Amino acid sequence: MTRLTAVLTALLALFLGITGTAAAAAPPAWPLVVADSTGPEVTSVQYLLRQQGAQIDADGIMGPKTTAAIKAFQSSHGLAADGLVGPLTWAKLVVTVDTGSSGEAVRGAQHQLVRHGYSLAADGVFGPGTTTAVTDFKTKHGLAATSQVDATTWQWLIGSTPTINGWSLPLAHNALPRSEYDDPHHDYPAVDLPVGTGTRALAVISGTASRVDDDTCGRGIVITANGVRYIYCHLSQWSVATGTAVQPGQLVGLTGATGHVTGPHLHFGIKINGVSHCPQKLLLALYDGQNPPAPSSLPTSGCFY
Ligand SMILES: [Zn+2]
Repeated sequence: MTRLTAVLTALLALFLGITGTAAAAAPPAWPLVVADSTGPEVTSVQYLLRQQGAQIDADGIMGPKTTAAIKAFQSSHGLAADGLVGPLTWAKLVVTVDTGSSGEAVRGAQHQLVRHGYSLAADGVFGPGTTTAVTDFKTKHGLAATSQVDATTWQWLIGSTPTINGWSLPLAHNALPRSEYDDPHHDYPAVDLPVGTGTRALAVISGTASRVDDDTCGRGIVITANGVRYIYCHLSQWSVATGTAVQPGQLVGLTGATGHVTGPHLHFGIKINGVSHCPQKLLLALYDGQNPPAPSSLPTSGCFY
């Protein structure tokens, strides 16, 4: 290889590297909805079934009537009638809506937009307010800045964790109940979140990611933002490289059981100038959809709530 060719190859690699990071991120996984599931993804299932004529309430609870409606929908769409809503069923349930549409699917999209912080009436009419909200939501997630809610937009609406004033929970909202976010740590100010291997770990704030690889943390990620270090340990897999600028809610890795552990979980900690702060109050506020306290105001001992 000539010197010139080597330089050009290096420049090309740099260019591809830059454009690669600028591309839209892969959409989040569809949540799996099972019998007795509760939450906003169940409400979405129900609105989408109502769009198909099902006579059920959109109450956010996967009860017997909703499960029966799902089975009927699956049978009539060539799917295994197992009553579970996974990727194949989601793909057939969602319908594209846009400015001027009306009905239950629009109501479902509006319900999700409200969850993501937009103030709207879920009135089932895709008017100017919904148009503005969808366009803004799509822009924020690297999608075409249009008002069309297509399958990919639905996937982002339903599958992504809402950001609250620039913050996100480190796990999808439905990954754990609230009660898991207030447990004290066995050792020092931090929290161990009991999730199985392969759960998506999300950036809590925008910052710069770096990988950790040692015997204690195992595969880890540290996000540094405004002098605060947010630490994720025991991952099975990294999803970002050292130096990546991450956004709140962005996938940083998959949970696992690497490093010093007795089983799979996500260890999450906050350090400022090497001092560990209790993350519990911050995580509980995010779980509740509230603006969290400043990391520097978090206690450095105790962590019992
Ligand atoms: Zn731990």
